[in-house]
Amino acid sequence: MDTYVPPKKRASKIIKYISPLKISLAHLRGGVCEKCQYNNFAILNAHHIVEVCNGGTDDLDNLLLLCPNCHALEHLNDSSSVGSEEFLVTDD
Ligand SMILES: [Zn+2]
Ligand SMILES: [Zn+2]
Repeated sequence: MDTYVPPKKRASKIIKYISPLKISLAHLRGGVCEKCQYNNFAILNAHHIVEVCNGGTDDLDNLLLLCPNCHALEHLNDSSSVGSEEFLVTDD
């Protein structure tokens, strides 16, 4: 039957924190993928054009709002940044 099960703390691993950077980008750039205009804000990522580990900053000029497809392609095209972002599940 429909027994109530209290929410577990581990749910926080699934419900991702939305970064302030992503929200700022969405306000500036419309909340859609900047490459393909894919319109699903919940799954868009903030991508660093110059990776932080390569001296990039969190400045909005260094960020792109991308859907997971375009984000993955950006990283495939930039072999210098392999493994430096968890781009499949995080906001940056
Ligand atoms: Zn896209
Ligand atoms: Zn990225």
